[in-house]
Amino acid sequence: MELETIIGLEIHAQLTTKTKIFSSTSNCYGAEPNTQACVIDLGMPGVLPVLNQETVRMAVMFGLAINAEIASRSVFARKNYFYPDLPKGYQISQYELPLVRDGQMIIELEDGSRKAIGITRAHLEEDAGKSLHEDFQGLSGIDLNRAGTPLLEIVSEPDLRSSKEAISYMRKIHQMVVYLAICDGNMQNGSFRCDANVSLRCAGDQRFGTRVEIKNLNSFRFVERAIEFEVERQTNILKSGSRVIQETRMYDAYKCETRSMRSKEEAEDYRYFPDPDLLPLLLDECFISAVRADLPELPDAKKQRFMTQYSLSSYDAGMLTSSCALGNYYETVVAELGGNPKLCANWLMGDFSAFLNKENREITDSPVTPYQIASLLRRVQDQTISGKIAKDVLEALWFGEGNVEADSIIEERGLRQIIDTSAIGEAIEIVIESNPEQLAQYRSGKGKLFGFFIGQVMKILSGKANPQQVNKLLEEKLKE
Ligand code: ADP
Ligand code: MG
Repeated sequence: MELETIIGLEIHAQLTTKTKIFSSTSNCYGAEPNTQACVIDLGMPGVLPVLNQETVRMAVMFGLAINAEIASRSVFARKNYFYPDLPKGYQISQYELPLVRDGQMIIELEDGSRKAIGITRAHLEEDAGKSLHEDFQGLSGIDLNRAGTPLLEIVSEPDLRSSKEAISYMRKIHQMVVYLAICDGNMQNGSFRCDANVSLRCAGDQRFGTRVEIKNLNSFRFVERAIEFEVERQTNILKSGSRVIQETRMYDAYKCETRSMRSKEEAEDYRYFPDPDLLPLLLDECFISAVRADLPELPDAKKQRFMTQYSLSSYDAGMLTSSCALGNYYETVVAELGGNPKLCANWLMGDFSAFLNKENREITDSPVTPYQIASLLRRVQDQTISGKIAKDVLEALWFGEGNVEADSIIEERGLRQIIDTSAIGEAIEIVIESNPEQLAQYRSGKGKLFGFFIGQVMKILSGKANPQQVNKLLEEKLKE
C-alpha cells in the first residue's frame, strides 16, 4: 500500500499597523504585559469596535498580489469559544464571506518545475491574548497586549504533497507579506506562524483521509519536522490497520514530536454569527484600483527582471531578490559600479553575505553601504587588488569608521596588487634558490609542490601579487 501525503496550511500574518484592528490602542510589540489593551480589546460591555481601514488596505494588497478575487462585500463574524486569554468570549473573524478568495501562489519544486498552490481564502481577524506558563509556578499568567492585534489568516487548498512543498509555499508567502510591508515576518515573536493540516491517503484514491491539525508552528524548521513526524505517525497507524483520529495536536520542539491537545472542534461548535456591532465591509472599485496602483514590484517579477536585465541565472536572481532590501542593495551596487552585474552578484551572495551572517546583521543595518561595496569592486575589476585582498578591505570597511572608500584603505595599507613582473621574478628567484630540495623533487615529478612554491612567493610579496601572473611566471621558471 503506497501512501500519499496531503497538506494544507493556515498561515497567520500579523499586520504592521500602528494601531489594533478595532481600537486605537498601539499595536507595538514588546510592551510590559497588560499595558496595551483598552476596553474595546477586552470586550467590555457597551463598547463598540471600529474597523481600522489600514488593515483592509493591507489585506487587499495581499489579495491582489496573489491574483485573488477581492470581495466587494465581506462580513465580520463572531467565533465563540471560552479561553482565559479571550476575555470577550469570542474572536472577531470573517467566516462565510471573507475579504479575499481564490488566489494562488506558484512554488518551485526541487526538480526546477513549478506548481500552483491554491489559496482558498484570506480573511481579517483579531488575535487573542497570550497565556504565559513559564514564569509562574502552578499558575498561568495572562498578557492581553496581543488581544485585538490584526491578523491576516491565509488558508491554502490541500494542494501540498510533502513537507518540502509546504516549506517552499510558506517561504513564498513569507517573502510576499514582507515585500508588501504588511507584516514584519518575525517568526520568533510570532508575527508569522502557521497551523499545518496533515492527512494520508492511498495513492490513487480520490477522497482525502482523516486529517490532523498541528497548531502554532513558528519556524520553518518546526513546520518541516512536525509534518515529517506526523506523516510517520499516521503511516504507522494506517499500516497497522487502525484509523487516524481527527484532532488538534501541538508540536513539542524539544522532543521533536506532536502530541494530542484536543479532539477537533467542528465549525458548529463555534456558533459563528455576523457581528452585530460591525457593518458589512463594502469596497468599491475605486479603492481597489488605488491599492493596485500602489503595489510594489513583486518577488517573481523582480526575479524575472533580474534574469533578463542582469543576465543572472535563476538561482542567483532568486537569491538576490529573496528580500526587497537585498534586491535594492544589489541594484545600487551595479548602478554605482556601472556594470559587471555578475561580479556584484558573486560578491553580495558570497563574501558580503558571509560577513552579514557572521556578524548576525540584516542587510538593512549593514555598516557597509552599497557605495562602499562598489568602490571596492571597482578595484577588484581593474585588478588593483586581488579577490583575496579585497576580503581584507571589506573587513576594514566593515569595522572602519565612517563612510570611507576602498581606495583610501588600499593606499593607507599599501595593498595595491604587484603587477610589476620584475618584482615577482625576483621573489621567484629567491624562493627557488632557498629551496633546492623541493625544486629537485618537483622536477622529478612531484607536481603537487607547485602550490608550495606559489605559497612561498606570495609570502614574500605579502599576498599582494596577482595570482595569475605568479602562476604563469613560476611555471615558466620551473620549466627551465
Ligand atoms: P478548519 O481547520 O477551520 O476546520 P478547513 O476545514 O477549511 O478549516 O481547513 C483548513 C485547512 O485544512 C485548509 O488549509 C485545508 O486545505 C486543509 N485541509 C482540509 N482537509 C484536509 C485533509 N484531508 N488533509 C490535509 N489538509 C486538509
Ligand atoms: Mg483550522
